[in-house]
Amino acid sequence: MTGAASAEASLERVERVAAELRERELDVLLVATVVNLRYLTGFTGSSGLALIAAEGAESARTVRHRFLTDFRYETQSAEQVPASFEREIVAGNLLEAAVASLGAASGRLGFDETSVTVSEHARLRELLSARWELVPCGGIVERLRAVKDAGEIARIRAATELSEQALTSVLEAGIVDRTERDVAIELELGMRRLGAMAPSFPSIVAAGAHGALPHAEPREQEIPPDVLVTIDWGALHEGYCSDCTRTYATGAGISTQAREVYELVRSAQEQGLAAVKSGPTGRELDAVARAVIEGAGHGEHFGHGLGHGVGMEIHEGPRLSRTAGEEPLRAGNVVTIEPGAYLPGRLGVRIEDLVVVTNDGCEVLTNLSKALTVVS
Ligand code: ZN
Ligand code: ZN
Repeated sequence: MTGAASAEASLERVERVAAELRERELDVLLVATVVNLRYLTGFTGSSGLALIAAEGAESARTVRHRFLTDFRYETQSAEQVPASFEREIVAGNLLEAAVASLGAASGRLGFDETSVTVSEHARLRELLSARWELVPCGGIVERLRAVKDAGEIARIRAATELSEQALTSVLEAGIVDRTERDVAIELELGMRRLGAMAPSFPSIVAAGAHGALPHAEPREQEIPPDVLVTIDWGALHEGYCSDCTRTYATGAGISTQAREVYELVRSAQEQGLAAVKSGPTGRELDAVARAVIEGAGHGEHFGHGLGHGVGMEIHEGPRLSRTAGEEPLRAGNVVTIEPGAYLPGRLGVRIEDLVVVTNDGCEVLTNLSKALTVVS
């Protein structure tokens, strides 16, 4: 399995995009990012473009769904891209070929202003006849991607289980007196051996004061006994990511402060988790967990957001943070709940679960215990 969407999933997603285009009175959408291409067409290659037609729009009668790639992907695209797309193997520039394929039609062409570069936009304007209006409409596909179907959730669950199995093996072998980097490498190797395509992001293994850096890079330094060690890792499996963080104690002799901060973050994590359901905004959920940490006087030590969506990308919509938009969470969102507290020069704690939002709560995909666990 390569993470390709099934032809049925592709058809349904493309139809939902087309409906959104009609709603916005757009005739065609240019899809240029690799991950959105994979979501809509099932194509897993690294170079391609698609045009999604609104269909039924008077002005775009001659435009059909179209997929363009280069000769390297001729065989692969024939296998992966459904017949609902007219497929074209392009010898030259994909964007020029896409514009040429619009032929004599006219209308409103939507593009994602967050992925099309300024120079590509200028080139598009130059190539398109005056009959076409260029309309920025970024986020259409991302918003669809934020609500997962059962097949996607199954893949994320499988990625989660595989990554947990890899961590369990690493912990059983012992991590004290091994370097952070060595532990990270073994974890990543373990996930690959269990079938992961890759880690979903570079693993974090951070012991003691190093754990106070939320995005600490594993060092060539040995993990000492009697400290907290934060491990944040995930697997990319069948095109979908997992994401989890656990903080362990490497001995019963950790400081009282370490225990207190751990229990505080755990309490914030559990209260945040209990508030998850469809309806509240990401900002409201962030506030629930943040209030717990602020209440204990550690507000300044929780500098990042509560969580993020996870799917084909490790960070995607919806966001759960102080600056998240007003959009409510929806059933089928897959998000992390990951508060932390980082005491510079001393220690850090982060606890992260991956959950599926439901109408009346959430389903937690992570299976690992959150009780403070001593590892050796
Ligand atoms: Zn994480
Ligand atoms: Zn995360």
